[in-house]
Amino acid sequence: MLDTAIETLSGHTLGHTASTDPQAAQLASGGGHIVELSGDADWRDVANDVRDAIQVDVRFGKFSDGRGFTLATQLRTRLGYNGRLRAVGDLIPDQAQFLRRVGFDAISPDRTDLEADWTRALDRFSVVYQPANDHAPVAREQAISQTPIVSELNARYRESDAMSILTDAITNTWKGKIAVLSSFGAETAVGLHMISRIDSSTPVLFLDTGRHFAQTEQYQRQLSEQLGLSNVRLIQPDAIEAAREDADSKLWKTDPDACCALRKVRPLNNVLGEYDALITGRKQMHGGTRVSLPVVETINARIRVNPLAAWSQAEIENYFDHYDLPRHPLSEMGYSSIGCWTCTRPATDATSVRSGRWVGQEKTECGIHAPLEAEH
Ligand code: SF4
Repeated sequence: MLDTAIETLSGHTLGHTASTDPQAAQLASGGGHIVELSGDADWRDVANDVRDAIQVDVRFGKFSDGRGFTLATQLRTRLGYNGRLRAVGDLIPDQAQFLRRVGFDAISPDRTDLEADWTRALDRFSVVYQPANDHAPVAREQAISQTPIVSELNARYRESDAMSILTDAITNTWKGKIAVLSSFGAETAVGLHMISRIDSSTPVLFLDTGRHFAQTEQYQRQLSEQLGLSNVRLIQPDAIEAAREDADSKLWKTDPDACCALRKVRPLNNVLGEYDALITGRKQMHGGTRVSLPVVETINARIRVNPLAAWSQAEIENYFDHYDLPRHPLSEMGYSSIGCWTCTRPATDATSVRSGRWVGQEKTECGIHAPLEAEH
């Protein structure tokens, strides 16, 4: 029987249904939850359930119904879901490559007599010509083809400290195809110091919005020089677009989402194609949407590595002290998270690192870490 005899085919798991799969039960016993969705589910309706799930099963009622493929793509690219994604139901081996390409990493077909056909189907192609969610070898983007899937990376890094994660990311897994995204804010020096010890020529992307505090610009120059960072790139908004969309320089006040899109999201997107992975300094202790931040995730089919995801404020402070790193000049004035001067105040809540950002608005993130639909 296919569902009991086969554990792995060409690196892709075939197994049981959600209710009988021992691996699923094991995952569930670790405290997470498993969600089963019909292929015709709307990804927006299931976002809250899916976001924290350790496994999502997408059920195909009929093999001729392609909505499960669409749903898988949306879960991976719109929601940035990076847990285990499994296709279950009426599946046929001819669909194997498509299932893999939209981001499924496990398969549990109803028909259990086609083991050899599934194996052949999964092994048939070694190279594809359009990048997708599977990190399969892509003829024009060979570097991506070397990347293990996100769940494997998170498992690999589970017991690793931040320095080890960064060392592997920079010198091994994404060697030559990884950059750091840095705000040169209050906590920035910690991650940049680690990176400078690994490879000081690692590209550092600084979104130069034209709205930074003078202290941030000064700190960016000082820290870069002190750490010997030799490849800091200032990423600026398109001048023509800025003149057209923000002629009176008040967009931050009238439409901050549009302003962030103009000054941060689009400029970053313009250079992201140069890299397979991006290192960020985000942490779970920042709260909001970051509380369940994983070490590795995909956003819009690109890898983000968050080596400090689980770090506490005390660990940050200890690292600053241990290496005698310079502080952002605004830190001592109560700024615990520092962005554009127009949208940043000293923390309004001592227990909330980002409480000084967009004070009085519902906005909590600029959009550079959001799936495409949330970007403007
Ligand atoms: S943080 Fe404020 S000023 Fe900076 S890009 Fe966003 S809305 Fe504009």
